[in-house]
Amino acid sequence: MKLVAVVIALVLATAGCGAAASPSPRPDGSPVPMTSPTATAPSGGATDAPPTDAMPAASVTPAATGSAPIASPSEPPSFPIPASVDRDFADSDEMRRQRDQLVDSYVASRVTDERVIAAMRTVPRHSFMPTRWLGDAYADHPLPIGYGQTISQPSLVAMMTELLQLDEGDRVLEIGTGSGYQAAILAELTSEVYSVEIIPELAGIARVVLDRLGYGDVRIDRRDGYFGWKEHAPYDAIIVTAAPDHLPPTLVAQLDPDGGRLVIPIGPVGDVQVLWLVTRDGNEVAMEQVLDVRFVPLTREEG
Ligand code: SAH
Repeated sequence: MKLVAVVIALVLATAGCGAAASPSPRPDGSPVPMTSPTATAPSGGATDAPPTDAMPAASVTPAATGSAPIASPSEPPSFPIPASVDRDFADSDEMRRQRDQLVDSYVASRVTDERVIAAMRTVPRHSFMPTRWLGDAYADHPLPIGYGQTISQPSLVAMMTELLQLDEGDRVLEIGTGSGYQAAILAELTSEVYSVEIIPELAGIARVVLDRLGYGDVRIDRRDGYFGWKEHAPYDAIIVTAAPDHLPPTLVAQLDPDGGRLVIPIGPVGDVQVLWLVTRDGNEVAMEQVLDVRFVPLTREEG
C-alpha cells in the first residue's frame, strides 16, 4: 500500500465537533479572515461541548412544531422511531434569507462546486436541530443536538461534501448520521445515500426529520460505522463525521477500487484532528491532508 501525503493547508484549532479549526482555508490554501469565531457560543449559553442537563434529549421532548413521521419505504428500522420530535419544519422567507446569507458569507468563498452551493441553499438546516437553537441555525458553527453530539459547522459540511466529488447516481456512505443534515445535503447530490449512526435515539430522530423533509430515500441504520455498511458496498464515496484515531481498514475496503473517495478526520480524542481525503486506485491508497478540524470521537460498540 502506497501512502502519499500532500499538505494542502494547516490552520489553528479553536472549535468543537464538526468544526473546521478556524480560520478555515480557502480552496487554494490561503487563510480566510475570521469574521465570526467558530467557537462563539450560541445565545442561550451553549458551547460546542456536549450538552448538560440543561440540554434535554431531543427525542423525549414533546413536539414543538413537529408531527408524526411519514413511513419510510426502506427495511424495518433497527432503532426506535419517536412519535414526535422537537424540530421546526416550517421554512420561511426569513429562514431562506439567513440561509443565503450563510452561504454567501461562509460557503461560497470556500467551495466552488455549484451543486454543493445549491444544496446548502436548499436544505433547511434549522429543521435538523432542537428548536431552542433556531436563532443560531444559520451561524457558521456546530450546535448541540443532544446525546453529547452536535450538528457540524455548515461551511465544513460544504467543504467535506465537495471533496467527495459526487455525481448523480454515485453511492455514498456517511458514518455518523447525527442530525441527518449532512445526509440531506448528500441526498441533494445523489439518489443513493446510506448513513449509519451508533446512537439509536439520534438515528430515530434523523429518520423522522429526513422523512418529513422529503428525504425518505436516504437509508439509515444503527450500527458501529467503524465497520462501514458492508451489504451495500462498494461505495463511490464515504464521509466520516466523527474522528477515529486511525484509518479504519474496513472503510478503505468498502471503497470502490476504481477511484473511490473517503473523507475522514483522524486524530486523538478531544484534540485537533486532521481531515484527510483518501482515494483508492485498485490496491493503492493515496492520502491528502486537507485541514485541521475538531470532531467528536468515533465511538466503538462494546464487546
Ligand atoms: N453528520 C452529522 C454530525 C454528526 S456528529 C450531522 O450532519 O449532523 C457525529 C455523529 O457520529 C454522532 O451522532 C455520533 O453519535 C456518531 N458516531 C460516533 N461514533 C460512531 C460510530 N462508531 N458509528 C456510527 N456513528 C458514530
